[in-house]
Amino acid sequence: MFENLSDKLQRSFKNLRGQGSITDENISEALREIRLALLESDVNLDVVTELIEHIRTRALGSQVATALSPTEQIVKIVHDELVNVLGRDTARFQKSSQPPSVILMAGLQGSGKTTTSGKLAQWLKKAGHRPMLVSVDVYRPAAREQLAIVARSINASLYEGKVTEANPGTDAVLRLAREAKREAASYGCDILIVDTAGRNHIDDALMAEMAALKKLLNPSEILFIADAMTGQDAVNSAKAFNDHLAITGAVLTKMDGDARGGAALSIRHVTGAPIKFLGTGEKPDAFEPFHPDRIVSRIMG
Ligand code: GDP
Repeated sequence: MFENLSDKLQRSFKNLRGQGSITDENISEALREIRLALLESDVNLDVVTELIEHIRTRALGSQVATALSPTEQIVKIVHDELVNVLGRDTARFQKSSQPPSVILMAGLQGSGKTTTSGKLAQWLKKAGHRPMLVSVDVYRPAAREQLAIVARSINASLYEGKVTEANPGTDAVLRLAREAKREAASYGCDILIVDTAGRNHIDDALMAEMAALKKLLNPSEILFIADAMTGQDAVNSAKAFNDHLAITGAVLTKMDGDARGGAALSIRHVTGAPIKFLGTGEKPDAFEPFHPDRIVSRIMG
């Protein structure tokens, strides 16, 4: 992703060489290139426009330091501004005063919610926590079975529960969630990870169910799981989920593909919530805390 940004910048900066200072004229081509490169990398238009303005203002205000060439100086400014958009806060979990703290996993079907629930449980176990997993997808037994397989593979606690209703709906979802929270407390688990039913698209029923779960469980974290491969669609879903639920963070999955990582910048910008983790493969340990600095270095090449 973004592989070409640095090369493009280098090319567009050639007119800056030998110039004593950065002027509106000599950076306009560079800014045009940065703008294109960011748009091609799936950064949302509003974010790009704002970034370019910040970069222009900072670049024009700066005298070219003798230690840095104008090119190096702009590269540094672009780097800093990208980190600013992503935020400098690292992944930190909020906890509730009364265990278990609940992490509600939100997102569309196929985004990687179940896989990420398992990865998160494993990561939390390694950090000394005792997580319990539950799937409240009462509509798809296969989804609950998938989480059960994941839980077994990482040796994590799971609340399986039973869905006996003939036509299970939100009532069954809430019942399972309530039982799981009670079970986690009685087993001394300090974190309950709730994998929810996804849909192919955002609809009122999905949001109403998520809102009911939020009200019941009072989660300390609501993580939006975003498939990085889906670019702007992921950004639009993030916005919709955030408008309804006020997410506390996002996890960007499938970053091992040729995902255009611009989604990270955009999700952070449109929701204000930090990206907390990256998924980098299908295996449980293909998971890492998100470091703005690191991803920006990858972006810049
Ligand atoms: P859910 O419907 O949101 O629960 O999504 P799943 O967890 O079932 O994931 C959907 C597909 O994406 C599965 O085939 C996963 O193996 C795959 N997947 C999830 N996360 C990642 C990731 O970080 N990298 C890759 N390559 N595949 C992933």
